Amino acid sequence: MPLLDTFGRPLSNLRLSVTDRCNLRCQYCMPEDDYTWLPREDVLHFEEISTLVDVFLSLGVDRLRLTGGEPLLRRDLASLVGMVSAKPGLNDLALTTNGILLFDQIDGLEAAGLRRITVSLDTLRRDRFVKLARFDELPRVLQGIEAAQRVFGSSSARTAGASCALKIDTVVIKGVNDDELVDLIEYGKTMNAEVRFIEYMDVGGATRWSLGDLFSRREMLDRLSQHYGPIEPIRVESSAPADRFTLSDGTVFGIISSTTEPFCSSCDRSRLTADGMWYLCLYASHGIDLRGALRGGASRDELKDLIRAGWIGRDDRGAEVRLALGNERATVQVIPVRALRQDPHLEMHTRGG
Ligand code: SAM
Ligand code: SF4
Ligand code: SF4
Repeated sequence: MPLLDTFGRPLSNLRLSVTDRCNLRCQYCMPEDDYTWLPREDVLHFEEISTLVDVFLSLGVDRLRLTGGEPLLRRDLASLVGMVSAKPGLNDLALTTNGILLFDQIDGLEAAGLRRITVSLDTLRRDRFVKLARFDELPRVLQGIEAAQRVFGSSSARTAGASCALKIDTVVIKGVNDDELVDLIEYGKTMNAEVRFIEYMDVGGATRWSLGDLFSRREMLDRLSQHYGPIEPIRVESSAPADRFTLSDGTVFGIISSTTEPFCSSCDRSRLTADGMWYLCLYASHGIDLRGALRGGASRDELKDLIRAGWIGRDDRGAEVRLALGNERATVQVIPVRALRQDPHLEMHTRGG
């Protein structure tokens, strides 16, 4: 029997953040000049992560995604992949990265058992990349995507039924990169990658967010159909965050409309930060301290009880609650910098996105 929360949602998907550090400063995620970092001694060792993964798997989790911060900054990440990839019950092991360090690491990650990869790419224009992310790293990101294409790009983005092993995720911001949707889809085709457009979210860390910056799913579809003609939705029952669509030439792309059409009702995802705090929602203000329990000597059964109790009591639906604010949302401030400095766990880059 799967473990269900108060809305009947199963515990099946775990996002594992392996570091809160990052080598970019994307304006929608880390726009400030300085940050409070997690104390190094609090960051879980690979053996500790592996133990917690065993406990999550025993409770029904079957999909893991490694994230960060920038996960490729974590030393010897391939070892962690090797430790978890062959665990019984694991059906999917994926990674989300900004791609800068991918060229050097992709072969080792694949050999260790990584099965899918998502690279974040918001623009194909070098000057715009620098403005958006503060570092001149577009060439290395594109080199990383090409390497990922060599390793993971063989399952075609044109297959509506299958999940593509290589994805490109783009946060779309009005007036910043909303004129690049077609260019990004065309680029995705050349890389055999499925492109997914993400609505800009008012999560912790997005201190510059405003309703006027939102480029909605509706606007994305209008923009794309002006260029490509009719767009067909792909109708499948899924807990995946992206709704998928096909263009008339068969190309598949996705939209993650967390802000205007949230998918909390099917959300089976939780997040473990690099220091072992477990969050049941991207918007949750409090987490469950698994590091404390683990280092305090809790047995696997005790850890299991802690996680089970947390999930059974889960009633989070953060994005739906934000949506219900309607126009008031524009006046409700995102989490202030002061609060983020006091508790960096509130940051998107600590939670892993
Ligand atoms: N550094 C890696 C990367 O960028 O792919 C992994 C961590 S990052 C926090 C994970 C995802 O969160 C990225 O795809 C990023 O675009 C997304 N993200 C961060 N802030 C966001 C925001 N305010 N709205 C929507 N997506 C956001
Ligand atoms: Fe950008 Fe990812 Fe770093 Fe956030 S964690 S600043 S989204 S690269
Ligand atoms: Fe899941 Fe929370 Fe995101 Fe809703 S807001 S989809 S409950 S993580």
